[in-house]
Amino acid sequence: MSMIKTPDEIEKLKRGGEILSRILREIRDACVPGVGSEELDAIARKRMAEAGGEPSFLGYRISKNDMAFPGALCVSINEEVVHGLPIPNRVIQKGDIVGLDIGMWYEGLATDMATTVIVGDKANPNVRALVADTRASLVQGISVIKAGGWIRDISGAIEDYLKPKKYGIVKDLVGHGVGHAVHEEPQVPNYREPRNKPIQLEVGMVLAIEPMVTLGDWRVNVKEDGWTIVTADKSLAAHFEVTVVVTETGYDLITPWPDVN
Ligand code: MG
Repeated sequence: MSMIKTPDEIEKLKRGGEILSRILREIRDACVPGVGSEELDAIARKRMAEAGGEPSFLGYRISKNDMAFPGALCVSINEEVVHGLPIPNRVIQKGDIVGLDIGMWYEGLATDMATTVIVGDKANPNVRALVADTRASLVQGISVIKAGGWIRDISGAIEDYLKPKKYGIVKDLVGHGVGHAVHEEPQVPNYREPRNKPIQLEVGMVLAIEPMVTLGDWRVNVKEDGWTIVTADKSLAAHFEVTVVVTETGYDLITPWPDVN
């Protein structure tokens, strides 16, 4: 599996990413007090089907014996970092912070993106800062991308933005290549990982960059459902993700930001 996508594949990815971003924007707007996580998932399924796409998370298994993911959308509430289940009896409350992560197959290629929503207007300033800084760290990470650079440049830019602010940077999950599969090489940690082999950025490399950040410690656990990743210390967590393609001089967004017009 090549890490490099052809110009034709990049065009397809951009078409898919545009649709995915539009869907996530609608789900963001629907993420209000009282809505059920399965209702948000239903929007994802319906809009993907209408657009001719297919949910890439639905039925996904991390390894062969794991439980298949039950939805098209991950809904991760408060201390849940990622991979929260969009199932009944999980209702969004005022004051929650909700990570919404979505992936789609379109014209044979996969894109991936996420945002975090503060529900209602009662969040503490430190919670607002967590969400804003997680997004800002992603902006920093992608700003250093260009052909000839290195994966560690992205990791370092994210770490350098977050570390002085004393956040926890989740280490067990990382960004990744995407396109031919939901998760591909290379891994893109959100911190400098000296054990990883240096990988140079090349034109046509497609990456999902996704800082996962906490108000406490970086350590996480997997819940009994086999999917939901929670902070070990129960601190709140935020997550933003975009898919980008490396260009000669920088990057192009495959998945436009869902929270900017
Ligand atoms: Mg991802």
